[in-house]
Amino acid sequence: MPLLTSVPIAALPLERFESLIGGKAYLRLMERFARGRDLLGGHAMWHVNSTARGGGVAEMLTSLLAYARGAGIDQRWEVIEGNEPFFAVTKRIHNNLHGAAGDGMPIDDEAREVYESVTRAAGEELANRVVPGDVVLLHDPQTAGMIPVLKRLDVPVVWRCHVGIDAANSITRTAWEFLRGYVRQADAYVFSRKQFVWNELEPDRTVLIAPSIDAYSAKNQELSDSQVAGILAATGLQDSPTRTGDPSFVRMDTSPGRVERRAEADEDRPLRPDDLMVLQVSRWDRLKDPLGVIDGFVRHVLPHSDAHLVYAGPSVEAVADDPEGQSVLGEAKARFAALPRQARERVHLVTLPMTDLEENAVIVNALQRRADVTVQKSIAEGFGLTVAEAMWKGRPVVASRIGGIQDQIEDGRSGRLVDAQDLAAYGRAVVDLLADPDLARAMGRQARHRVRNGFLGTRSLLQYIALFERLVTGQGRPAEVSAPSGYV
Ligand code: UDP
Repeated sequence: MPLLTSVPIAALPLERFESLIGGKAYLRLMERFARGRDLLGGHAMWHVNSTARGGGVAEMLTSLLAYARGAGIDQRWEVIEGNEPFFAVTKRIHNNLHGAAGDGMPIDDEAREVYESVTRAAGEELANRVVPGDVVLLHDPQTAGMIPVLKRLDVPVVWRCHVGIDAANSITRTAWEFLRGYVRQADAYVFSRKQFVWNELEPDRTVLIAPSIDAYSAKNQELSDSQVAGILAATGLQDSPTRTGDPSFVRMDTSPGRVERRAEADEDRPLRPDDLMVLQVSRWDRLKDPLGVIDGFVRHVLPHSDAHLVYAGPSVEAVADDPEGQSVLGEAKARFAALPRQARERVHLVTLPMTDLEENAVIVNALQRRADVTVQKSIAEGFGLTVAEAMWKGRPVVASRIGGIQDQIEDGRSGRLVDAQDLAAYGRAVVDLLADPDLARAMGRQARHRVRNGFLGTRSLLQYIALFERLVTGQGRPAEVSAPSGYV
């Protein structure tokens, strides 16, 4: 049984960015791509991660690889198909990297055996397909064990870590120790922010690249009020008494799409068009704190406002590399069921259909545009693409002061940052924004501006090309690759 499955990659035109980032920045982008193409000389860039669907990494790869391919750079995307014990170990490592015990089991020799039996074989499989001149980018802990095998070929190997924690604890360090032997063999390691860089890694090989969003994807494309209403009505999440609204959207390949599948919701009734709405969109993961989001809303928002809380995540069968999804959703459902009646009437626990990923994405888009306030009350967060997504839509976001969220939101200006454990502070910030629509609008405007200047895919693409140039030519320093935000 092969361990790697190829993911198809679209080809998207970079030209569409000209009007968004301006002529000068666009010209620079084209020049850098031309240089990248010359250096690669027809060779391929290989990416490996652990899922093609669900979560921020798959979200970014889908877009960034498609733009790079559209610009003439051969991109390949492989997904590592581990078994249950493998994903139990990698989820444990993921949790440990965030300082959390996860399933509480150790990452010991037995775990290493499980881990290496998959990563070694996946590395061999890829090694049979990679040729000299190609470049390999491996994403996240699930793939780090492939590095030693691939380094035997004479090709640059980059490891991209999308997760991290501001202040490492002893659990985090155990996970670093487990992975460091593999990671140190890579030619470069990419982290999302300075605070996430592990100790005992080579400073010269360390690169910082913040994540980014695609302004044109189904997730982030502009939607009219009629589309938002039509999409939410089609999913059954919001009443549409007049049957108006248009559930259409534009697919990645520019063909027309239409939302047809219904979402599943634990709720007393669907939203009504004039209900105030607070939203969190997240995978079913304890580090996203679904119970805290519900409890904080019930205790600290509900008594002061008429707003409804929508907590939306993907249907759980769909996210293959996340063995905890089912049980976390179960815990959230139990919490919902135990709410007193008046609270239950105002909470909507939603799972979104994942059969058609672009349909799923545009439903998230419509929810984010419909929300009066968006929340990301995570306990740990590498970056939090959902924050940038909501900010891009001009929404005021209340989020935990952790990880990459702090790089996105300037507290009090382009959103609100609150202590991740402080339910009362989260509730107060939400209530303040619900009560002051002018303040909410002003923050939303700043939020969009902030994303335009620092967190669009064009910035990531430029940084990846700079990294690639450095690996191939040996020129350039990490600082040149690690451009600050504000570099469109
Ligand atoms: N997401 C989605 N559908 C869902 C739930 C989440 O498309 O039903 C997306 C969300 O919009 C975001 C990504 O999954 O693009 C989550 O990325 P983030 O960085 O916020 O967190 P991660 O899941 O990577 O920890």
